[in-house]
Amino acid sequence: MTNPIKTLCPYCGVGCGLDVSPPAVSGKPINRDKQGTPVWQARGDRAHPSSQGMVCVKGATITEALHKDRLLHPMMRESLDEPFRRVSWDEALGRVSDRIQTVRTTQGADAICMYGSGQFNTEDYYVAQKLMKGFLGTNNFDANSRLCMSSAVAGYVQSFGADGPPCCYDDLDVTDCAFLIGTNTAECHPIVFNRLRKHHKQHKHVKLIVVDPRKTQTAEVADLHLAIKPGTDIDLLNGIAYLLLYRGYLDSVFVAKHTNHFTAFAEVIEDYKPDVVAKRCGISIEDLETAAQYWGKSKRVLSMWSMGINQSSEGTAKVRSIINLHLMTGQIGKPGAGPFSLTGQPNAMGGREAGGLSHLLPGYRSVKNPQHRAEVEQFWGLEPGQISPAPGRTAWDMITGMEEGAVGLLWIAATNPAVSMPDLERTKRALLRSPFTVYQEAYYPTETSAYAHVLLPAAQWSEAPGTMTNSERRVTLCPQFRTPPGEARADWVIFAEVARRLGFSKPFTFNGAADVHAEFVQLTRGRPCDMTGITHDRLRYEGPLQWPCVQGEDEGNIVQTEKGRFRFPSFMRNPQKLSASRLAAKRLYTDYQFHTPDGRARFAAHHSRGLAEPPDDRYPYVLTTGRLYGHWHTQTRTGRVDKIRQMYDGPFIEIHPRDAAAIGIKEGGWLDVRSRRGIARFPAKITTAIVPQTVFVPMHWGALWANKAEANALTHPEACPDSLQPELKACAVQLIPVGFE
Ligand code: SF4
Repeated sequence: MTNPIKTLCPYCGVGCGLDVSPPAVSGKPINRDKQGTPVWQARGDRAHPSSQGMVCVKGATITEALHKDRLLHPMMRESLDEPFRRVSWDEALGRVSDRIQTVRTTQGADAICMYGSGQFNTEDYYVAQKLMKGFLGTNNFDANSRLCMSSAVAGYVQSFGADGPPCCYDDLDVTDCAFLIGTNTAECHPIVFNRLRKHHKQHKHVKLIVVDPRKTQTAEVADLHLAIKPGTDIDLLNGIAYLLLYRGYLDSVFVAKHTNHFTAFAEVIEDYKPDVVAKRCGISIEDLETAAQYWGKSKRVLSMWSMGINQSSEGTAKVRSIINLHLMTGQIGKPGAGPFSLTGQPNAMGGREAGGLSHLLPGYRSVKNPQHRAEVEQFWGLEPGQISPAPGRTAWDMITGMEEGAVGLLWIAATNPAVSMPDLERTKRALLRSPFTVYQEAYYPTETSAYAHVLLPAAQWSEAPGTMTNSERRVTLCPQFRTPPGEARADWVIFAEVARRLGFSKPFTFNGAADVHAEFVQLTRGRPCDMTGITHDRLRYEGPLQWPCVQGEDEGNIVQTEKGRFRFPSFMRNPQKLSASRLAAKRLYTDYQFHTPDGRARFAAHHSRGLAEPPDDRYPYVLTTGRLYGHWHTQTRTGRVDKIRQMYDGPFIEIHPRDAAAIGIKEGGWLDVRSRRGIARFPAKITTAIVPQTVFVPMHWGALWANKAEANALTHPEACPDSLQPELKACAVQLIPVGFE
């Protein structure tokens, strides 16, 4: 029997290791899905340090989605009301490159936009950056990560001088207090939660605080659930800070030696006395005091957050307010402690490393920084000044650009904006106005394929090799072990081919994905995310590696024998015997040297601004959106897995019994939910799990899966001024029982 293939689950940022075996393993019956099609078998990889053999329903069923509804051939049409016709790759790529040339000549490079995805491998991200930002000369590359974690990026950069989560999953096993805010970890990052929950159950002193307007599965097992009103996160965080300061939990030595701007912060939190905060947040003063006590008395405090914090018009301020608590109590740079953002997409971290947002360049560089631009220009062999100093269009700016007629070509890859963008009707109207849309995707149809002029079939996970980085900065090689269906090609291969057709032949000639990776890591040399010591070969033989991993300082488990130099394969490694450099890579800032000019972390002094669209007389309820266990984003994959589809009848709206009684709706009765932008219809689920005056709708159902039940038909695009991440988490709505208009 052959060894299973070691790879990574390509759904979420937890980044669980998988062992994958072919449908037919000798001595066992052939593994088949419900339709009888043989499918590969996926199990948790016990040797993967991040997940230690655990896997959730998404990872366990990933192979069932690989063969269904695949886009097999390039297709084209002249206008959106025509049917697609099958064309050759040559014709499709010729059309795309001709159109790019025309738009560049007539409208300029900034009329070209690419919207990519945290589902990309890092290699795909890198080649896309090189083409768009380097050789085409526009920074108009953004990714769906903008909707997911860009507030965490901005918060880390502003507080620490560089992006990068400082913690690791081993911290889950040793923390004394876990502070979970804006994250339903049990459903959305289940394997992280399982690990934390195991530690929580085994050690009575370990406290779990969950901050969420809903009593989620995460909140159900918390020692303290703070069901705050939506939009009051900064009130709560500043209120906890006030209590930590006045109850004697300030680490004044850490603050004096390693931070700046504490005085300004201390002045701001004077306005957040317990009675004021408790009233604003809708919680008791006792609970607020308990939260501060749990934090203050614990030796090691780990905070975690995801979309509930990031998807906010004050997302960066919220992230920095969490970090403030760590700085004032010295809870960073040691086991079990620190601020730990959980990424949504499997390779949103790789995107950050490769420069995959419209203000970034590879190696955690910024397009605004002249030295950073010069370094990348020199590396790519460009003329000085060829990279634009202006940040490109964000995901939402691409929508407004199409409304204004400023976009001549939109290239969307591996994402589904016709479900995931805010203000969906406006998004769809803008997509209809795009004069030329290229859609590069593994599946067909999706909600977005209806807006494409050219469809390019992409190879997906298992069909093209590449690397992904998970939330704890751990890079895993995802090898190819299946042949792409039809004519599908790897994303980076498509980008490189278009680049060569545009005349950039030499810079885009690569000898495979390992070659792309080898070039990319050179751009991380000397940067906070230095991964020059990581190669595809090393990952293959040694297993996943965290960065920083510096070439020359960290060559891995190499042994010299009479036959030459060998590396120990991962299954022979003893995790207790990590080299000094591998141990050092587990946590950032253990030396308290931050990436700011003076090496000190920065406090932020932020007052709460609340929701961008607060409830009022006309729209009296706050709608909050979120995810469910099993489903992934817009269901492009999970909607095609029988077991996951059967978990839910469809979308629904959670409403508190008091509100249900007030509007006269019964369990299962239909509600029309209206916002200033649109309307959607859901059956009511009456529950005390949600606070009064707030309702909850899952965001997974687009037009392909449910009729007029799109959560984002209601949401608005008002964004955080620093991260430009839209406030997808909350908007004001009316609730109208169907038949009572
Ligand atoms: Fe995949 Fe995330 Fe589930 Fe792990 S927790 S198996 S990475 S979906």
